[in-house]
Amino acid sequence: KRIKAVHQKLRVFRAKEPLLGIIMWGVNHSRINELSLVNPPVMLMPDDFKAYSKIRIDNHLFNKENMPSHFKFKEWCPLVFRNLRERFSVDEDCYMNSLVKHCPTDIDSPGKSGARFLISHDRKYILKTITTEDVAEMIRILKDYHQYVVEHHAETRLPHILGMYKICINDTDTHHVMVMKNVFSAGFNIHRKYDLKGSTVARQASEKERAKELPTLKDNDFLSEKTSIHIHKDDKAKLIKILEADSTFLASLNLMDYSLLVGIHEVNHPSNFVDEDDEEEDDEDLEQEDENNANDSSMFTTPPSSPRIRTESDGDYVYEYEPDQNDPGYFAIKSNDKSPQPVIYFMSLIDILTRYGVKKKTAKAAKTMKHGAGAEISTVKPDQYAKRFMEFIDRIIV
Ligand code: AMP
Repeated sequence: KRIKAVHQKLRVFRAKEPLLGIIMWGVNHSRINELSLVNPPVMLMPDDFKAYSKIRIDNHLFNKENMPSHFKFKEWCPLVFRNLRERFSVDEDCYMNSLVKHCPTDIDSPGKSGARFLISHDRKYILKTITTEDVAEMIRILKDYHQYVVEHHAETRLPHILGMYKICINDTDTHHVMVMKNVFSAGFNIHRKYDLKGSTVARQASEKERAKELPTLKDNDFLSEKTSIHIHKDDKAKLIKILEADSTFLASLNLMDYSLLVGIHEVNHPSNFVDEDDEEEDDEDLEQEDENNANDSSMFTTPPSSPRIRTESDGDYVYEYEPDQNDPGYFAIKSNDKSPQPVIYFMSLIDILTRYGVKKKTAKAAKTMKHGAGAEISTVKPDQYAKRFMEFIDRIIV
């Protein structure tokens, strides 16, 4: 283990910008720290939920093209998130490899929040930039969130949150990043996508959004298409039970305004069947890239024949990842016979950190004025929000 750690130190993090270089450096650094722990604790203590590890680097000389010379990297509650990763079946070396082997790439985000979304090169993880308030909220709920995951044996559709970091570049530029599991599985193209809240006020995708290749559609779009989610009744019962518990849990923490992210993979869609000529061309480029990366750690090599896929974002390629077509992952449910065509649904809750009473009270006041007191608005109280949300989900799954 020690040899491995030393070997890791010589990694070059080829990043497109300092923020990403530091994230890659930091996650790698945390892993080295972990490996150097002789006796990792068996039980989490109350203080672990307030802890952080922090490192400040001045005059960083190595890898200058990709990294600034002054930066700070802070990892929130390292033991707690490590424990969560274990509970969510995320192997420590794989987690590190996913985030540091190649640079994560930007993905399009329709959110009003202005958050930036990135995806790891193997498409397993989503990195989201969050606000200081989100960090505070996450720390506030971390103990309950962890306990909930433990009690439910990780059987939850709450976001599977795996890490939270603060990055400070040259003492002036601060960023907060949360890492969570990708709801969609790497080997499965998503052909339609919805963000559902159970509210109909201002819940349709804008023209601009609809013009995108894969727009994020909303409640009214879903209703006007007159579609449903067709899954087996046992799958529905299981899903509703989990979502019921999850939304009750969120309401107990005064959290609301979350969405159910629904991604639909059409099994017979032509884009699933790759043109072999294209693949050969891609392989040539990849071989060149592989040579360039030959100095990287050789710990994580895969056979040269592994299938490779392209990211949707900017034409970069994904390396060394073998999507498993037989295993769509925890968030997937197959359609039943009543579905007009065979599809796989990927469903999970996202965006859970909005607390009633923080910004929402003012939003409610403003919306009540605009739509009248009886209008259906998404800024109701958390328990009403959960109830309305669950009624909607129950109604659209048939
Ligand atoms: P949010 O701002 O959290 O509501 O997310 C905005 C968009 O980012 C969603 O509509 C999704 O398309 C995407 N997104 C957020 N979280 C995830 C995730 N864990 N997995 C996949 N996509 C996500």
